[in-house]
Amino acid sequence: MQASQKANEWIDGFLFVANRPILDFLNTKPVLTDGPTELLPDVRALERWLIASGMVTSSKAKAVVRGWRQSPEAAAFLKQLIAFRERLREAVVRIENGSSPANAFLAEVNSLLLQYPRHTSLRKRDRKLIRETLFEPRKPTDLWAPIVNATADLLAETESSRIRQCKSCVVHFFDTSKKGSRRWCSMNICGNKLKVAAYQRRKRG
Ligand SMILES: [Zn+2]
Repeated sequence: MQASQKANEWIDGFLFVANRPILDFLNTKPVLTDGPTELLPDVRALERWLIASGMVTSSKAKAVVRGWRQSPEAAAFLKQLIAFRERLREAVVRIENGSSPANAFLAEVNSLLLQYPRHTSLRKRDRKLIRETLFEPRKPTDLWAPIVNATADLLAETESSRIRQCKSCVVHFFDTSKKGSRRWCSMNICGNKLKVAAYQRRKRG
């Protein structure tokens, strides 16, 4: 995967190829040359991911998140978030296999949705009003709001057959291609590797 670091598929050391931030969140444990790699080992890494993913954008929110670096509450939240990520992975794999997520996971998501609703507000742009998500975290657990709402959107995705895992690695993505025929996480990462391997096989054969 290292070869593609120059492409803008990587932002600040994180992979963004999924077309859905919540799937990019799932992809924070890719298999690199040294094996499975946890890209969110600590609160500082989480802070970087939140900014890279565009989940935290305002300078006010960035300052709040920066204040959590030494916070035991934030460390405890991260531990829960990583465990949630792995349960989400299980749900996504089930969807990819044509099944549906386990009821226990749906119950967990529903409970979090109630606890951490998505807030929105109206803003003027030119002469029109747009409704946008308002996210102003105060404490680490407030991060559940964008995470669990994006999770719910993904699970309710009507074109669920476009939720797919790369043919050659652990990365998941949402296929937005016109034909719906995307097979790889990225041409730079797995696509070329496979094409080269097939070419060499043909040459040998
Ligand atoms: Zn791949």
